[in-house]
Amino acid sequence: MKDLSMGQLKAIANQCSQYEPNGVQLTSAVGNNNPNCANCNHYQNSKCNLDLIDEILNNLDQG
Ligand code: SF4
Repeated sequence: MKDLSMGQLKAIANQCSQYEPNGVQLTSAVGNNNPNCANCNHYQNSKCNLDLIDEILNNLDQG
């Protein structure tokens, strides 16, 4: 799997219906409207344990 930039992880999480914030957000006052795979409970060992990243990334590339 390719290395993903933080921008890609954000774009993916924005498209993802399974995004689950893990509460380790650095911003507190701005709200929760900044999804990012790196903040998601399903993101383990630099990959998605639901295997959604590749699927969503393909959709992004085609968009
Ligand atoms: S880690 Fe997986 S479930 Fe979480 S936002 Fe990214 S693609 Fe979606």
